[in-house]
Amino acid sequence: MRKESLMGCVLGVDIGGTNIKLGIVSMDGEVLESGMVPTRAEEGPEVVARRVGIWLREKRANCPDIVAAGVGCAGLVDGVRGFLHYSPNLHGWDDVPLAGIFSEELSLPVVADNDVNMAAYGEYLKGAGVGTKHFICITLGTGVGGGIIVDGDLVRGSSGFAGEFGHTVIQVDGPLCSCGKRGCVEALIGADAIVRRARRLLEAGDESRLADSGQLTVKGIADAALDGDKLAIRVFEETGHLLGIGLSNLVHIFNPEVIAIGGGISGAGDLILDPARETIKGQVMNRVLADVRIVQAELGNKASLLGAALLAVSNFK
Ligand SMILES: [Zn+2]
Repeated sequence: MRKESLMGCVLGVDIGGTNIKLGIVSMDGEVLESGMVPTRAEEGPEVVARRVGIWLREKRANCPDIVAAGVGCAGLVDGVRGFLHYSPNLHGWDDVPLAGIFSEELSLPVVADNDVNMAAYGEYLKGAGVGTKHFICITLGTGVGGGIIVDGDLVRGSSGFAGEFGHTVIQVDGPLCSCGKRGCVEALIGADAIVRRARRLLEAGDESRLADSGQLTVKGIADAALDGDKLAIRVFEETGHLLGIGLSNLVHIFNPEVIAIGGGISGAGDLILDPARETIKGQVMNRVLADVRIVQAELGNKASLLGAALLAVSNFK
């Protein structure tokens, strides 16, 4: 497609386990129209794509010149071929030609990629990465993901799986991870690991208001830490330290200008980022350290949608 034909707008699609976020986005990243439809993954990708197509046809009156679409979802997605191998949220969607299915339904060129890659691309162009060329975005939640931009391009690797920061190993023979291996970043700093850490300290007899709080959650631990609860603060110090070890490895490999931290747990902010920054100071060579900033991501839960749309722009021009 020639660049001069790209004067219209693009569709961003962020497929979650429950809902699909949709947005019609201008070429420079302004969301012109947004909406949501239920995912109902059990109906299969063709039916889900048709639901997106119906939404798009309704909205198209406001922006008739939609020229491409970007589709993001969690899981192992080969972004080069637009092929979904497996998604933890979309049961039964194994080995699905995601870009092809959406392209046929929407009659548009479609790029598909992992939602964290999409979020990283969104943050790179419109959020915490603006002005950089070498940028990394990490998402912290139940899972831990990563998206890497080198010299302005998303790094996908030979089959699309690059950036799986959550499954890099930072503790030999460490705790078991969801991927079946041991000692991964995700197994040490994901939401479940944070709750386990708090429980272990409570069982060791450390005093804390969390002892009376019934079911432990990351949010509850963060609230307690903000109120000065020493055990809760220690939970985030230990978690942030481990995050810092993982990030130090990334800094040495990629020499980024900014690493942005997003996802649900990043709401804990400096509780987790300050200890991570301290560890990085101790781990990273001084000259490299001077170049990098560790910040919170800026776009919240619209990062993937915006990134999907903007990746469509850059892919098809
Ligand atoms: Zn793992």
